[in-house]
Amino acid sequence: MAFDINQLLRPNIKALVPYSSARDEFQGEAKIYLDANENSIGSPLLKWYNRYPDPYQLKIKEKLSAIKGVSIEQIFLGNGSDECIDILYRAFCNPGTDNVIICPPTYGMYEVSANINDVEIRKAPLLENFQLDLIHMETLVDEHTKIIWICSPNNPTGNSIHHEDIEAVLNNFDGIVVVDEAYINFARQHSFIQQLNDYPNLVVMQTLSKAWGLAGLRLGMAFASEEIIRVYNKVKPPYNISEAVQELVLEALDHVEDVNAMIRELVHQRLRLEQELLQVPIVQRIYPSDSNFLLVQVQDARAVYEWLLTQKIVVRDRSKVILCDNCIRITVGTESENSELLDALLQFQAA
Ligand SMILES: *Cc1c(COP(=O)(O)O)cnc(C)c1O
Repeated sequence: MAFDINQLLRPNIKALVPYSSARDEFQGEAKIYLDANENSIGSPLLKWYNRYPDPYQLKIKEKLSAIKGVSIEQIFLGNGSDECIDILYRAFCNPGTDNVIICPPTYGMYEVSANINDVEIRKAPLLENFQLDLIHMETLVDEHTKIIWICSPNNPTGNSIHHEDIEAVLNNFDGIVVVDEAYINFARQHSFIQQLNDYPNLVVMQTLSKAWGLAGLRLGMAFASEEIIRVYNKVKPPYNISEAVQELVLEALDHVEDVNAMIRELVHQRLRLEQELLQVPIVQRIYPSDSNFLLVQVQDARAVYEWLLTQKIVVRDRSKVILCDNCIRITVGTESENSELLDALLQFQAA
């Protein structure tokens, strides 16, 4: 069996005539725009936002194309990764019939979005070393399995998934394989973006929310074959990225060097946190991290979490999550934030 996008698509999406916006019907420069029912006089703001934004965000994609080394036709931009996730469910999964596979512990949104879309979730938990259980995954696949979600580096465990294991999934599954690379900028591993041309069923997700420091703007990215990106564009809301966000993102993309400096500093701080946490008596285990956070096992995660709250430091209590007994997830902070965290942990006294 070979990958065939038409076998995977929901029939209603295959037959869908997408919304045609004014900017679909006319592209390019004109002098007078009377085609989109905008306010031609202006707006109450100094900066005019009376025009609809570019529905395909071509200026941003031109810059991203150069930064990422992929063609413009292989890029989709969403209102956060959330939208990149949701559209895959809506385009490929028949509610009440189809299923997808996730590998917990992992990012919660894959399951939430499945539930919203009435799509069955099948779980193949990670192995003790937080790597894929390929054999279990294979037993879960049936003819209604449309998507396999892989998060690498994984949230909340922090590790990268073995490249060869992801390739094995890509080679042996004829559905969509999503590799969520939200934390790839902090990793030693290469992005799967370089392999887009090898795998027609691969979707690589990235975001401006982490390394780029722009979570408030809500810009998620999906990189995939042109045929998958065409499906994304067919299903997305016409103007899903606002003009204000497009302007700010365009500006941010000119500062790759500043971002790289932040990444280096955060990785440096992660290494420092790792080393200094080893000196904290209540810390039992620090899992290796390829991301901007650490999964840390302590004696009593809930108590440590509560103690840190009294010190006005918020971490994530992950102790109820499968394979994460007594674990807290700590985002790497600034140098001084990390120092305060370490001090607070040293002061913790078990009740
Ligand atoms: C933070 C995160 C994202 C980013 O989501 P946005 O909607 O783009 O902010 C995506 N995937 C994972 C695994 C994350 O941890």
